[in-house]
Amino acid sequence: MKLRNTAAAAAVVLALAATSTACGKSGSPDDKSDKSGGSSSAPAAPTYQVNTSADVKGSSVFEKIKGKDITIGTKADQPGLGYENPGNKTRSGFDVEIARMIAADLGFDEKHIKFKTVPSEARETQIASGGVDLYVGTYTINDERKKQVGFAGPYYVAGQDLLVKADSSIKGPDDLKGKKVCSATGSTPLKRIKEPKYGVAEAKAQQGYQLCVQDLVNGSVDAVTTDDAILKGYAAENKGALKVVGNPFSKEPYGVGLKKDDAALREAVDKAIEAHEKNGDWKKAYDATLGLSGAAAPTPPAIDRY
Ligand code: GLU
Repeated sequence: MKLRNTAAAAAVVLALAATSTACGKSGSPDDKSDKSGGSSSAPAAPTYQVNTSADVKGSSVFEKIKGKDITIGTKADQPGLGYENPGNKTRSGFDVEIARMIAADLGFDEKHIKFKTVPSEARETQIASGGVDLYVGTYTINDERKKQVGFAGPYYVAGQDLLVKADSSIKGPDDLKGKKVCSATGSTPLKRIKEPKYGVAEAKAQQGYQLCVQDLVNGSVDAVTTDDAILKGYAAENKGALKVVGNPFSKEPYGVGLKKDDAALREAVDKAIEAHEKNGDWKKAYDATLGLSGAAAPTPPAIDRY
């Protein structure tokens, strides 16, 4: 059942964030609905069939990890996308599900996935240095980044938006003149908001968006800017106090980051994304995570084999 714009939906988001019940682990069919604060109607994330005979010929990264563990970089402070429960350390969110479905196709069950929290500013160096084998964390595909890393996907398209206090008069990027705005170091929204045309008084850079949300709550900035998908998670956690303006002013196609020259791995990840879009897992994963905010699942974007 899909929950739409109701207090129940918000409660589910909160419960998920609080208990991080989005197990959905391959080979471990935990029933997250049991742990989501009585919200038994919350849709469960799918479990993913592990391809035990997976091979990616010609991939230097796969050669290194085959039969061992895969290290996947993601975020830990973005409810609905990439979130780590501080108590039991379980991971949940749409990005985490995308990571799990790809890992399953590459032959890694939940026990053999090592999630690693990597903030926006460290993504390129972590991918290039082999600190992570894949990166799935609201990572916009663009030409500048393609000089350093490769991208599979896109698997979702977000748009830059603004999170403000519920009583704020800010209705879009044109209302930011003279305002203080927070975003994350190394992100596309931070770069964009510094463009002179927006005329912001201060573009504050933080390590992650959760820290920006704290700045907004305590009044040291007027707005947080990043992708609408991310901001919706924080709005749900601060219902009645914060709101997403809902006037997106960019396109942020999310890709899976990987080693720049590993074309074989890129193709394998592209195929995995396509397969899970086709078999319904993508939509189920969306409904169990981002979809809890009330927005119906969009049609997934076409894979860009650049
Ligand atoms: N999608 C944007 C980016 O890749 C913002 C979100 C993020 O920082 O992860 O920079």
